[in-house]
Amino acid sequence: MSHPQVLENIRIVLVNTSHQGNIGSAARAMKTMGLSDLVLVDPVEAPQSHASALAAGATDILASARTVATLQEAIADCQLVLATSARSRTLDWPMLSPREAGAKAVGEAFNSKVALVFGRENSGLTNEELQMSQFHVHIPANPEYSSLNLAMAVQTLSYEMRSAWLEVEAPTAATASSTEGAADNYPNGDDLARFYAHLEQSLTESGFIVRQHPGQVMNKLRRLFNRARPEQNELNILRGMLSTYDKRYAQLLKTSSQQAPAAADTDAVETNVAVTHSKDQS
Ligand code: SAH
Repeated sequence: MSHPQVLENIRIVLVNTSHQGNIGSAARAMKTMGLSDLVLVDPVEAPQSHASALAAGATDILASARTVATLQEAIADCQLVLATSARSRTLDWPMLSPREAGAKAVGEAFNSKVALVFGRENSGLTNEELQMSQFHVHIPANPEYSSLNLAMAVQTLSYEMRSAWLEVEAPTAATASSTEGAADNYPNGDDLARFYAHLEQSLTESGFIVRQHPGQVMNKLRRLFNRARPEQNELNILRGMLSTYDKRYAQLLKTSSQQAPAAADTDAVETNVAVTHSKDQS
């Protein structure tokens, strides 16, 4: 059975690209490998004639490319986000080889959208952008000169996507059952962003994160949750826990500010529970 929609579900995202020629060459690289979904995040130069010249026969990919202002918008509907880096170790984040990235992306693209994110020609992706992904992907190039031209990096990874797709097009029975339908219930980028915003707000309001000195707590928590990859129903539980906690905390604050002496005992016990719990987390 043929599954062309798998490749349609794999999006190439180019962040803040400086040279329109690279956008054109990336479009060509995509088309040769059967990919078609291109999203440009705040390109420095909008793709015009130079981009079209380098796109050669792939101007249709350029014509249908979407331009958005932020990476968050580009990945809002994606359940798996892979961020590429010319450096072999960026943050301490789960890494995939290009081959593993192909297998993972294709396995998930049966049922959900996947984004492959590429950085700026001169400075790559920021740490904040890298942290919006579940995995980082590095092409194991010469360690002394590991930075590929942007469009070449797009070509290499698009090839891995195609190879993995061809693999499932002529599968052994075992590969077919392990890839098809593998992941349809992971939250997308928007759900995750809402969860992190909620988590940060609850932790800040409770005082666990100190507003003036937030430190690395949120980065570490993002890494923890992205590594665990909660499914949608698990994320709902986490959101529910935070909401219950927010409500209870607001009640406790209200009660303690209006506290009549007679009610003091019960509230004191409950406040202690909250304090012990927050110590456990630190
Ligand atoms: N000086 C930058 C290089 C950016 S190259 C830096 O140190 O990050 C532009 C983009 O091409 C990168 O952001 C990445 O998306 C891609 N790229 C280049 N070389 C790569 C490699 N070896 N592995 C994975 N992606 C690479």
